[in-house]
Amino acid sequence: MTQTYRKALQSKKKELTQKLAVREDIAVEPISEAIDQVQRASEREFAISRLDRDWQTLRAVEAALARMADKSYGICLRCEEEISPKRLNAIPWAPLCISCQEKVDEARETEHVDLAFSDAA
Ligand SMILES: [Zn+2]
Repeated sequence: MTQTYRKALQSKKKELTQKLAVREDIAVEPISEAIDQVQRASEREFAISRLDRDWQTLRAVEAALARMADKSYGICLRCEEEISPKRLNAIPWAPLCISCQEKVDEARETEHVDLAFSDAA
C-alpha cells in the first residue's frame, strides 16, 4: 500500500522538478518588444502564481516522502488521526485529514476577508 503512494509521490516529485526547471528558463527570457510587455507581465504573473503552487506541491510531496521515511505517513499532522485511503489516493501528499483541511481552508478564507477589510481602511 505504502509502496504505491511512494511511487506516486516520487513520480509527482520528478514531474514537478522538471516542470519548475523549465519554467525558470521562461522567467528569465528577455523582453524584446515593449508592445509585449503588458501581456507578458500578466502572463508572468499567471506563471508565477502557478509556479508558486507547484513549489508548494513539491514541498508537500517532499514532506510526505520524509514522513514515509519516519513512518508517520498517512497520519494527519493536526489531529493525528489516520488520513482516509480515499483522500491519499487522490492526493498522496496530503498532510491533513479532510476535516482538518476544511478547517484550515475556512481559517484561510476568514484571514483573506480580514486582509481585505484592513486594505480598505
Ligand atoms: Zn486531522
